[in-house]
Amino acid sequence: MDKVHVFNAGPCVLPQVAIDRSIEALRDFKGTGVSLISISHRTKEWEEVMEECRSLWKELLCIPDDYETVFLGGGASLEFLYVAMNFLENKAAYLDTGVWAHKALQEAQGIGNAYALACSKDRNYCYIPKGYEIPSDIDYFHITTNNTIYGTEIKTDIDCPVPLIADMSSDILSRRVDVSKYAMIYGGAQKNAGPAGVTFAIIRKDALGKVSRRIPSMLDYRLHIDKASMFNTPPVFSIFVMNETLKWLKSMGGIDAIHAADEKKAATLYAEIDRNSLFRGTADKEDRSIMNVCFVMADGREGLQDEFLAFAKQCGMVGIKGHRSVGGFRASLYNACTQEDVDALVKCMQEFEKLHI
Ligand SMILES: *Cc1c(COP(=O)(O)O)cnc(C)c1O
Repeated sequence: MDKVHVFNAGPCVLPQVAIDRSIEALRDFKGTGVSLISISHRTKEWEEVMEECRSLWKELLCIPDDYETVFLGGGASLEFLYVAMNFLENKAAYLDTGVWAHKALQEAQGIGNAYALACSKDRNYCYIPKGYEIPSDIDYFHITTNNTIYGTEIKTDIDCPVPLIADMSSDILSRRVDVSKYAMIYGGAQKNAGPAGVTFAIIRKDALGKVSRRIPSMLDYRLHIDKASMFNTPPVFSIFVMNETLKWLKSMGGIDAIHAADEKKAATLYAEIDRNSLFRGTADKEDRSIMNVCFVMADGREGLQDEFLAFAKQCGMVGIKGHRSVGGFRASLYNACTQEDVDALVKCMQEFEKLHI
């Protein structure tokens, strides 16, 4: 197989060392003679992995001591429901910035009174709404910091007078976050933190326990915190791979180092999109995501879309077809995607331009 460049939006490219260690562990977990997928999660060897993962997570993200992290199954989509179950009593407001933000809102509306405080659907979610005022009488304000499908991102930690809850599925571990500004941060691992099958929730402990409903046990964060994410069988394999991914991230210099690399990759690709006469970006410049770069053929050149996809495939590009609701192209530049991958994509765009001017 020739060298490929993986720009998949999720599940995403993961560091080769994490994949290699996982292959070893599938054969023989820590010299026990048992495969990672056959071990008991009630063994000392497994508890060490859990503990290492939790502590690396806390260290890399600088999570304060009054927060707990749980690692659960179910996907970010199930967390939409968890959020409403655990925090919605009277009313909650959501920032509707895309498909996932909207789904989170809809899920909360199935539980209680939730509404969109601001929405960017009028221009197909190509920007982040601004100038809205967050009311002080709501239980929480929910944001989606990176809109994976539309390539927009909230790049700073906003000031919020009420508990702030953020879906960071697709930009967690890409920049330093002031965790203390959030009541909770959650997401699926498969965009930037690990493989599919595990989700994370970072929760300020005193934000819980404020709703009067009876919460089903599997949806009650307090129970999962109490049981250290082992109330039921945890997604053992996914957590193992995530732990290896976190170890790799630390060896790369941690969040600040990876952030600098991520910014450089994004700047490289956006510069080419802005320069190249055949393409244009779809997100407003000030809101452009450093994780998901969305672009289309330039006006009048739309007919070249399929040809470019075929050309890019020949050049070894994988996963650059845009989401069906935006069309065009999307290159996801998660942490394990390298500058070399991005340079190869840029070169491919330049060669394609030469064929068509
Ligand atoms: C992918 C994604 C989700 C959904 O994740 P699942 O784990 O597939 O449920 C939610 N929010 C954002 C921002 C995403 O990118």
